[in-house]
Amino acid sequence: MAASKSLLDSLKKPEPTNFRMTDFRRELHLRHKREEHAKKEKLRALQESKYVSRYAITIDTSRARSNCDVLRMSIKELGFKEYPFGRKDNCCDVHWHACHFEENPEVFGGKVNKFPGMSEICSKMTLFRCLDIMRDLFPTDYDFYPRTWYLPAQFHEFSCEIRKMHERRVKPKPTFIIKPDTGAQGDGIYLLREPNEYSSLSGKCHVAQEYMSNVYLIDKFKFDFRIYVLLKSLEPLEFYICQEGLARFSTLPYENPTNKNIHESFMHLTNYSLNKRSSTFNRSDRDDEGSKRTLTSVLRRIAMNGHDSNKVWKSIERIVCKTIVAIVPEMKVEYQAAIPPGKTGPSCFQVLGFDILLLQNLKPILLEINASPSLSLDSEQEVSPGVFEYVLSPKDEEVKYPLIRDTLLHVVPIDKLKYFRKKKKQRLLKKLKASTSQKGKRPDPPVKQRTSIVIIKADESDEEKREVNVTQQMSEMHMDVDSHGDGTARDVNSDDERESNIKSDTELDEEVDNYFETKLRESCLKQLYPAIYDEECERYRILERVAGLFIFFLGIRGSLRIGPTGFRTFARKCRLNRKGMTNASVDIMYIDLQRRWDHMNPERTSGKKGNGGSVVSSNTGLCYQGFLDACIEIARRKFYAPTKIEMLENLVDHCELNLNLRDNDLANNLPRLHFRRLGLQYRQGSMYAMPRRVIDQMTEETTIEDLLKAHEKKLRQPSREDIEAFLRKSRRMIYQPSSGSRVISVTKSPDSE
Ligand code: ADP
Repeated sequence: MAASKSLLDSLKKPEPTNFRMTDFRRELHLRHKREEHAKKEKLRALQESKYVSRYAITIDTSRARSNCDVLRMSIKELGFKEYPFGRKDNCCDVHWHACHFEENPEVFGGKVNKFPGMSEICSKMTLFRCLDIMRDLFPTDYDFYPRTWYLPAQFHEFSCEIRKMHERRVKPKPTFIIKPDTGAQGDGIYLLREPNEYSSLSGKCHVAQEYMSNVYLIDKFKFDFRIYVLLKSLEPLEFYICQEGLARFSTLPYENPTNKNIHESFMHLTNYSLNKRSSTFNRSDRDDEGSKRTLTSVLRRIAMNGHDSNKVWKSIERIVCKTIVAIVPEMKVEYQAAIPPGKTGPSCFQVLGFDILLLQNLKPILLEINASPSLSLDSEQEVSPGVFEYVLSPKDEEVKYPLIRDTLLHVVPIDKLKYFRKKKKQRLLKKLKASTSQKGKRPDPPVKQRTSIVIIKADESDEEKREVNVTQQMSEMHMDVDSHGDGTARDVNSDDERESNIKSDTELDEEVDNYFETKLRESCLKQLYPAIYDEECERYRILERVAGLFIFFLGIRGSLRIGPTGFRTFARKCRLNRKGMTNASVDIMYIDLQRRWDHMNPERTSGKKGNGGSVVSSNTGLCYQGFLDACIEIARRKFYAPTKIEMLENLVDHCELNLNLRDNDLANNLPRLHFRRLGLQYRQGSMYAMPRRVIDQMTEETTIEDLLKAHEKKLRQPSREDIEAFLRKSRRMIYQPSSGSRVISVTKSPDSE
């Protein structure tokens, strides 16, 4: 009986076969995750409960991922406050995202290190389209990137071009490079010489580019530069270039492309992520050696080879300026969609990575912009055969750490920074005074003095420790140091020397000021715009006004496409019918362009990328680039002038005047352009203060002095007629200058510069 009972019991027990290992693992994993989460929450609560001064500069690094190391180093050096798990109220001064602006939609204030839609704008298709538009308007100025075709939409044009080249027997045989639209790190890139080698099976969009084979070589290897640029703000436009960067080398000696070597990616591609896998990758720690070098070491090498490296650098700066000016209109459209006027949102800044190739004749060529350039400081190293380890890369640290530190200094709130520096200075002064007066009273042997610093360090909080470090550095840098470099003590017992060791308050004050000034002076970031290239770039900024018109007629807030009604309203309000544009022709133009652009962007017409790149909503209508095409077409038909840019300017002037956008940002650009053209120094609102008397009397003989005199008086606000008259007359002077006119000498046509 008992035996049968135990048999029954054993039957009731769960079958061992029901127990699945995967369930167990999942349970374990979940439990582990729960514990991790609880730990994080506890830490976060602890952190937030601590007293944080309202002047503390706070940085949220919870989404910084691979950027964390360099960010943490910079935060520590600057003495800011890090929030590694974010803040519940999302109220940090800076929110650092590794990839997208949209990563944390709960941020409504402070600054985010990404602009909305930037990864899309930096995708190869959008970037080169923006540049193509500029090349169309300014052909000689935008010649710094390879000819590009957009596949599959332009496959026919692409194959025709190859066929033509073959017919002309172009030598060397032309080679093309195919790159996926949103690819990175060399993924999916290949070279081809015949159009039928292009495979569109993946259904992805690609760009095809002329392969630049005549590249400048160092030690027989091909290389490209990674240039870092800080785009600090969009309105007003302000950006900086980092004066140090990286040069990435390929790992097979370079040869011109042939059918045999065309597939050698270690020869033709310079991506670090690709070449690090090569057996010939050189990991030398020296600046001027190895497969990754610093930019300045390569520029030095170029100079040593007898070339003008300064000229190369200036050309690179110009490329950066022209490229940023080309993408700004798109950025403005994306910005208003993400943060429509009136809605609270963070302001943005972004560190961009420009990839630039150098041709044999030292002409720099733009290959692409990276919206999220790698900021990691470590690299993979083979410690023993087959065993890899991540080690700190000194070259990455040398370049990226100052870049991020100075970026933070540029973007944190200025009032807090001022307060922070004042406080820091006070504390430093206190410490310095204490240490010098101690010196005066009781001259401890210098070795002991060092020990006393160490003791203070041991007692202080982290922040204080850093300050003592700085104090120590400063005393070593600027002050009379009491010990020799080799550690031997100097005799400081004499009274005279002791006296000289006591520094006055003002002297100490100066020391601290010097310290901060040197820090700022040593910044690796150099302002390009507006400081240096303001004048030069002014004429390229016309497309921002077109973007302004597009945004004006979008209708729905936060949208990225203009609907048919919006487009019709644009034509009506800008009185394009007076120029002979009928309603029917406006509608036909809209439909035609919308179809063309949907065909050009098959991947994007189905929806707009939302948080983390997921497609969130279908979006129909005419995109900004389609609207721009429409403007160029209308300008060509109805606003004829000798050059394309003049036609477009005429159209935009006409629209802005009819929209009466006087108090708008757009209107501020209007006088600016005309004043520049007349060779006058622009001042805000200057044209509006132009008295009618002067405008009426303006002839082709009017001199700059006359205009300036009138401008200085600033008698009254002119009427709409005044503005129109001014524009008409200034345009007449520009476009039909008579040879005897005195104004000609100071008037430059935009395209002749
Ligand atoms: P990814 O975003 O995948 O890195 P890139 O446009 O940077 O794509 O191209 C990868 C590499 O291919 C570059 O680092 C460069 O060495 C090479 N390359 C790209 N375009 C060209 C070109 N037009 N001519 C010559 N080499 C090129």
